Amino acid sequence: MLDLLKKYFGYDDFLPLQEEIIASVIKRRDALVIMPTGGGKSLCYQLPALRFDGLTLVVSPLIALMKDQVDALKSNGVVAAFINSTLSYAEMRRVQALAQQRVLKILYIAPERLALPGFRNFLRTLDVSLVAVDEAHCISEWGHDFRPDYRTLGDLRRSLSHVPFIALTATATERVREDIVAHLDLRDPQKFIASFDRANLEYAVRPKRNTFDALLDLLEKYRGESAIIYCFSRKDTEAVAAGLSDEGFHALPYHAGLEHDVRSQTQEKFIRDEVPIIVATIAFGMGIDKSDIRLIVHYDLPKSLEGYYQETGRAGRDGLPSDCVLFYSYGDKIKHDFFLDQIADETERQNALEKLAQTIAFCELQTCRREYLLNYFGQHWDKENCGGCDVCLAATETFDATLIAQKMLSAVVRTNERFGIGHVSQVLRGANIKRIRELGHDKLSVYGIVDDFSDDDLKEIAGLLIAQELLYKKGREYPTLGVTESGRSFLKNRAQLTLTRRKREEEPTASSRTTRDYDRALFDDLRLLRSRIASEQNVPPYIIFSDATLQHMAYYIPQSRENLSRISGVGAVKLAQLGDAFLSAICDHARQNNLTERNLPSQQRGKNRNTRRKGSTYDLTKQLLHQGLSIAEMAKQRGLAERTVISHIERLILAGEDMDLRPLMPPLEHFKKIKTAFHTSSSTALTPVKNLLGDVYSYDELRLVRAFLHQRERRKATADEHR
Ligand code: ADP
Ligand code: MG
Ligand code: ZN
Repeated sequence: MLDLLKKYFGYDDFLPLQEEIIASVIKRRDALVIMPTGGGKSLCYQLPALRFDGLTLVVSPLIALMKDQVDALKSNGVVAAFINSTLSYAEMRRVQALAQQRVLKILYIAPERLALPGFRNFLRTLDVSLVAVDEAHCISEWGHDFRPDYRTLGDLRRSLSHVPFIALTATATERVREDIVAHLDLRDPQKFIASFDRANLEYAVRPKRNTFDALLDLLEKYRGESAIIYCFSRKDTEAVAAGLSDEGFHALPYHAGLEHDVRSQTQEKFIRDEVPIIVATIAFGMGIDKSDIRLIVHYDLPKSLEGYYQETGRAGRDGLPSDCVLFYSYGDKIKHDFFLDQIADETERQNALEKLAQTIAFCELQTCRREYLLNYFGQHWDKENCGGCDVCLAATETFDATLIAQKMLSAVVRTNERFGIGHVSQVLRGANIKRIRELGHDKLSVYGIVDDFSDDDLKEIAGLLIAQELLYKKGREYPTLGVTESGRSFLKNRAQLTLTRRKREEEPTASSRTTRDYDRALFDDLRLLRSRIASEQNVPPYIIFSDATLQHMAYYIPQSRENLSRISGVGAVKLAQLGDAFLSAICDHARQNNLTERNLPSQQRGKNRNTRRKGSTYDLTKQLLHQGLSIAEMAKQRGLAERTVISHIERLILAGEDMDLRPLMPPLEHFKKIKTAFHTSSSTALTPVKNLLGDVYSYDELRLVRAFLHQRERRKATADEHR
């Protein structure tokens, strides 16, 4: 499974629960998956789809999203399509034919199709291996987005009673969960409930004062990256967007009062990175999967914490650090009260008032905001300091600094008070670098005596010691550290020292380090390249590569195909199609700036993966092929259909394997005709070629020749590259 994950999606590891969910689905057991936005739900059915022989049907209510999701799959080499009302009749027939010919692995369908008798007949002609119901809360009246069409899924379930169903949603309430199980008639489903903590989101509440200036500062931090600003009223969205434009930020308003066309254009521009900032009422964001939104601002108080969680949840789906900032004043409550007073229904009004009160309590909190949010959704949180909300980040702690202060002051003295904190820190932490050896500082008794503080920690402590007047700074441009008189007596008297510092959570992880220290200029270059390719291919940029992947590239600076392929997010097909363009941009930048590659952490893991691959179903097929067996013989030996064996071969080739397919080719006459037909139809789709050639040729033959030609093209491309 890790193999498929890397080859088709480019990732090295699963996100929490993904592996367990996929394993359960592959065993053909029904599953209910509750995971927050950005948790990686799609993969839970997309990866099993690659393992099953038949088709995976995906039901999703978000028509606008289907095309992007299918484009994303195609860009990874997965054969997928969708059927919804945006297709012409002819297009729909074509997709249906592809599904019937078993060319498609994944088919997205809109729920309203299911009610049409013609469509049901079509479904009966398919070999369905798995049904995934995305946004499954739409089946429940208790959810926030009930779709009556989802109820017809019960019928689908009954007509596909032998097929496993997986239902996925980000809505966690017990009632909705029960509804999903009941209406979909899930049988003894395995339930997976992920933590609703979004670890990469930082939550902050700020007083509503000089709000617009504060907003400008926030946007400055993320200039050029995507942000959504939520306002209370339509009028405010227009005013704020206009104000931002005056300040040189490219921003557009979005609200329900705008023409439908204007709204969809605005949304499209945002998805395609043509406008980075949207100022919106809550109407914006439902139907978009954009993974690289870095900032969500609530310019006004949200109505409920459900809404707040959902809106902030749109930030950072790619897992990179992102900010959620809410501007709060008690005055906002009065604005809301005015509207709530107009609710006629007494219970409904009480309900709304209660939700508002909980939101206000969240704003006025003196304790961890993350903890409050999670508790609100019925989940437990036991860290004392989350390290990712304004309350926790402002928390301080006192600690015994006697020893570290002694070490630092000694290091300053031993290096003759001629160096800055950067060098002192390197000496203390025992850095193995030329300059230190040249100065002979690796021979000092203070060399390498600190191993429990990071460079950042030591810099912070130096600052604290300066504030205590134990150290002082000399010089302006390259300040060096000196020890004060009281510093010397502190050392001599072996005095005790207690300091106060910002409270911290545990050590930063490798990935957060990557995301801090990447080469910003290279990242910007790569983003430009991405935009160019995206507009050539007419897909949203995040489908090409996510920001997270580009940041990994800008950190590791891979300069060979091999190393590029190790970057998280670079799968086999993307490597083949985009590898050259991105490599040459990286190499240019590296040459101009004298940068070298960093070691990639996954090298070791790559080895494990190879051993794990032994014994995978694909590997067995590959071995038999090496032994010179024919398709029929392989199928017999493995107890599989010939078609399945051929599909293994196709997937192995697509995933970048190099194999000798010549023994599997049809007689030369046939081979030539098929090759010409692919050439004439100038597409890799089978049906047009089959139509050209007629019934004498089988689909199996066509697929094998297609795989052969694909591999030959690729060999040519690699040969050119080495020339
Ligand atoms: P959800 O539907 O739960 O909101 P998605 O399926 O849209 O989440 O995935 C969110 C993001 O996480 C996407 O950008 C996706 O490519 C990425 N992602 C999914 N699985 C992994 C993984 N195993 N490693 C890294 N990124 C992943
Ligand atoms: Mg999703
Ligand atoms: Zn916190």
